[in-house]
Amino acid sequence: MDFIEAVRNAGIVGQGGAGFPTAVKLNAKAEYFIVNAAECEPMIETDKFLCRTYPERLVETVAKIKEHLGASHACIALKNHYHREIAILEEAIKKTGAPVEIFQMKTFYPAGDEQSMVQQVTGRCVPERGLPLDVGCVVDNVGTVLAVADALEGRPVQDKFLSVTGDVKQTMVYRVPLGTPIRDVLNQAPLNLNKYAIISGGPMMGKMLATDEEIDNAVVTKTTGNLLVIPTDHYLVTRAVKSIPKMIHEARSACIQCRFCTDLCPRHLIGHDVRPNMVMRSVWMEQDIEDNDQYVRIFGNAMNCCSCGACELFSCPMGLSPRKMNDYIKGKLRDRGIQVDRNMNPVAHEDCDIHKIPTEKLIARLDLTKYVTEKLPEFAEFTPDEVFVPFSQHIGKPAEPVVSKGAKVEAGTMIAKAAENALSVNIHTGFAGTVTEVTDRGVRISRKEG
Ligand code: SF4
Ligand code: SF4
Repeated sequence: MDFIEAVRNAGIVGQGGAGFPTAVKLNAKAEYFIVNAAECEPMIETDKFLCRTYPERLVETVAKIKEHLGASHACIALKNHYHREIAILEEAIKKTGAPVEIFQMKTFYPAGDEQSMVQQVTGRCVPERGLPLDVGCVVDNVGTVLAVADALEGRPVQDKFLSVTGDVKQTMVYRVPLGTPIRDVLNQAPLNLNKYAIISGGPMMGKMLATDEEIDNAVVTKTTGNLLVIPTDHYLVTRAVKSIPKMIHEARSACIQCRFCTDLCPRHLIGHDVRPNMVMRSVWMEQDIEDNDQYVRIFGNAMNCCSCGACELFSCPMGLSPRKMNDYIKGKLRDRGIQVDRNMNPVAHEDCDIHKIPTEKLIARLDLTKYVTEKLPEFAEFTPDEVFVPFSQHIGKPAEPVVSKGAKVEAGTMIAKAAENALSVNIHTGFAGTVTEVTDRGVRISRKEG
């Protein structure tokens, strides 16, 4: 079986959060292969754990992917304060002789944004709304590379490593089958709280699960990398539940046009046209603008926003919501059928490095400093009584079921096949049991027969 076929069969998607099918991404030739080990957001431990635990497997697989891509450079990019992981990986490179380098990044947010990372590693700027491949680079995260290692040995994606951080007695890393209820993971974890909210992912771009119902309905997928536990009255929870009309009203009445949101925007810094202050100045009258050319002049730049959240959770001194206003405007641009031109040759600002947001300051601004610990996470594996494995854990079309109610499945069984002639991936289970339900959203598997 060839390389791409093995990756495709295994159902690998980018595990850093985006969920883009890896077989599509790696079906290319590139000059650089960059492994994103920078844990883009604070309060996530998974990639560091994987670097410490599987260093040789990681660097050897990086070398294989480099060869497959025909790349002349391969590097693992980490934040420069990850001293322990850097030393372990350097030792693994020495021991295996893998043609891989370590790239030490400054500790800023969002160091792990792949476009910022490409700019840091190569000096090249990815075009607006473009891909790293547009400038000769492929970027994958640590978990994705290790999934490729498994795939080359015939093991599909069937379980997931994820950290549990925040208001906990001990930071944990778990390995669980896909579809494990989030509540089951939290019930295993040594939490400090009985009542809590969860951010699935990091505090900047993760999905807020603020109610018990939201938590009870959530399961571990291929892109779940972290559960951040916070009190239900935490600042991040109250920020997340503001309504759009309230945000528009605040933009109109409280935006002082200081431009901090624009000047510190990571995409603006790499030369993309992103000007959230412009959007904030005019969003209140957006519905009154009938002329599409005028609309694009004022709001078209919102299309280049990557929703990193730096503007609203760090830069804005007034506590406003430029990111959410950009998201709102993106929807309106789509509704109007407006295509916004792209700059294919952006140039990074000269003061790009000076304006980077230090991670430590960001953590303080997010009121998370009290949860930062130097203590390493503990590791545990467990298998729940039941899993619900969704058909859609990736960008593109949902996979289509290939099992029916009553079927017996083993860990590694394919339960849904990639949709034909579409961007889609196979889905496997890491859980042995009986299929008790097949819905339009996914497959439920239980230890007991249904
Ligand atoms: S969310 Fe804000 S800081 Fe991030 S890219 Fe968009 S405008 Fe820039
Ligand atoms: S940082 Fe806040 S107050 Fe300043 S221009 Fe942006 S939205 Fe307005």
